[in-house]
Amino acid sequence: MERRKFLTGTALVGAGVAATTLAAPAIAGGHEKLTMVTSWGRGAAGVFDAAQHFADSVNAMSDGTLEIDIKAQGELVSGLPAVFDAVTSGQADMYHAADYYYIGQHPAFAFFTAVPFGMVPSEMMNWYYHMGGHELHRELGEEFGLVSFLGGNTGPQAGGWFKKEIKSSADFNGLKFRMPGLGGKALGKLGASVQTIPGSEIYQALASGAIDALEWIGPWADEKMGFQEITKIYYTSGFHEPGAALSVATNQDRFNSLSPAHQKMIEIASAETHQWSLAQFKANNSQALTRLIAGGVTALEFPDEVWDAFGKASKEVMDENMDDELFKKTSESMQSAMRQSANWDSLSAGAYTAQRTRVLG
Ligand code: CA
Repeated sequence: MERRKFLTGTALVGAGVAATTLAAPAIAGGHEKLTMVTSWGRGAAGVFDAAQHFADSVNAMSDGTLEIDIKAQGELVSGLPAVFDAVTSGQADMYHAADYYYIGQHPAFAFFTAVPFGMVPSEMMNWYYHMGGHELHRELGEEFGLVSFLGGNTGPQAGGWFKKEIKSSADFNGLKFRMPGLGGKALGKLGASVQTIPGSEIYQALASGAIDALEWIGPWADEKMGFQEITKIYYTSGFHEPGAALSVATNQDRFNSLSPAHQKMIEIASAETHQWSLAQFKANNSQALTRLIAGGVTALEFPDEVWDAFGKASKEVMDENMDDELFKKTSESMQSAMRQSANWDSLSAGAYTAQRTRVLG
């Protein structure tokens, strides 16, 4: 009798273990909450949307077991460097930002947003996912205790808003211009007084005269900012960000504390947000430009002489950073991938688009 009781008890314990094992996949890693700081004002069109989309995707994919708590610019920390510092110090778990805000920490961060005369979005995706870009991003991030992924893309950015028309490169001399990254450094070579300020502060800076001109993103996001209320002069093409990627970077120790499944969800949601975000910008830009023009905005292109000056200044800026080994290695990898991708794109999609326009009119 005693023996029988013992066996029954064992069987019950066994059933209990089995039930626990079966339930385990749904709670892999338990419930985790990650605080994500961003460089974007809450609700900023496109960029904050990308951060929100990433968070929503992770929450849904993990069945609520990995929760992303977004803190917009100013909610936990203020200013662009503070976003980076919060994550490297462990005050926050991750950030959603444009990595070129951190060229002061390392110039190679520029490559993972955009460099002047760099890649358009399709070239960026080829390089990042199949031609070594992601590995270089991870290598750079690890120097700062970060695990980095691309997690958004604005598409090609506009040249910006000006209070006076640009007739020659000399018009940049003394111009107070908001432009981050290495593009901003290039404008500095043309004599501009370049400032990097968060998107949420640009409108006021332009309205008050603290800056004379600015670039933000493109027609849709710019329209939401309301720059057209202050000036009507808009340059639609720019040299500085031909396809600006956004990043999701997680504190490395915190990332390593997560289950492999949760880690993979962060990677997958980042990549999916990269695509989703690019499409959101591209789907909205044309209609926004039509509305801006209907509202009195003049859409202009810089003269060739200005583009030539942008090119010369950009090359100088890139060359100045080549003594950094990781910058040089990343630049060579990017340039090689860009040339290869551009060649095939020109022969395939480029030729097709020209023919489609010709045949269909
Ligand atoms: Ca920009």
